[in-house]
Amino acid sequence: MLPVLVIHGGAGHIPKERVELSSSGVRSAARGGYAVLQGGGSAMDAVVEAVTQLENNPAYNAGCGSVLNVKGEVEMDAIVMDGKTLACGAVSAVRNIANPVQLARLVMDKTSHLCLTAGGASQFARAMGVPEVPEESLITDYARMRWKKNLAPDANPVESQMGKMGTVGAVAVDVEGNIACATSTGGMLNKMEGRVGDTACIGCGGYADNMVGAVSPTGHGEAIMKVTLSRLILFHMEQGQSAEAASDLALATMKSRVGGLGGVVTVDRQGRWAARFSSRQMSWAAAQKDTLHHGLNAGEHFIQSIDDPH
Ligand code: ASP
Repeated sequence: MLPVLVIHGGAGHIPKERVELSSSGVRSAARGGYAVLQGGGSAMDAVVEAVTQLENNPAYNAGCGSVLNVKGEVEMDAIVMDGKTLACGAVSAVRNIANPVQLARLVMDKTSHLCLTAGGASQFARAMGVPEVPEESLITDYARMRWKKNLAPDANPVESQMGKMGTVGAVAVDVEGNIACATSTGGMLNKMEGRVGDTACIGCGGYADNMVGAVSPTGHGEAIMKVTLSRLILFHMEQGQSAEAASDLALATMKSRVGGLGGVVTVDRQGRWAARFSSRQMSWAAAQKDTLHHGLNAGEHFIQSIDDPH
């Protein structure tokens, strides 16, 4: 099996001055995750590595760099899923940890549950020895500026739907043909305290099944949940659609049925992949063979050597 890793750094509108930041981060995390696959590592290890790198990068709405809720606080959601066993782990509204994706993996590996939330997730993190970090270390000046701007009564409506995004996610197929996905987010800017988004919900914020493929989405979480976007894409693939056509069909359904915009990275069990979006932009990167593919605007598809450090 030809291993592959595809990641995104969120759908939405990326301001000009942040384009380079957003697109270099996904290229570097794709290289990091793909190195795990090249070393014979599992799809699960690869997606967790790529998403961890993106959580640690303040350019994205996940981990450090998360958007703030209406009270100016950080509450994060994350999910992982293993396509071999359909094992899944998630956390929602979790606070004061650097890498929610790793905690989601611990929920999968160490509990008999699928999702832990808020205080219970924090308690579990402490029991697992996950270090607590001060909330301040997760908040960037940019996130605080956007929070203040969005509290203003004249907040721009485009910023309101599309500017609030920036979730990160990854899908991968490893040499053994095992498939996995991971997604992590700070959620929607100025969300209510306690809001749980699509990212923590199986079938919505991700799905992986060795028999079909895997999806990690980004976009308006409430819309994603209404159409169970990730599972809907796998359904279309089960009906014979390609990863690309299935992704487009499901994104079109989300737009026409509930007016939601977003994007996805998708793989099938043969390692064929797609990065598709209905939002204005989505930073994405895919690593396969010796090649790194990437793009940001609709129709954009750049190709470079995986060893090219730029
Ligand atoms: N889907 C995420 C959420 O609603 C937001 C995003 O993708 O940026 O929490």
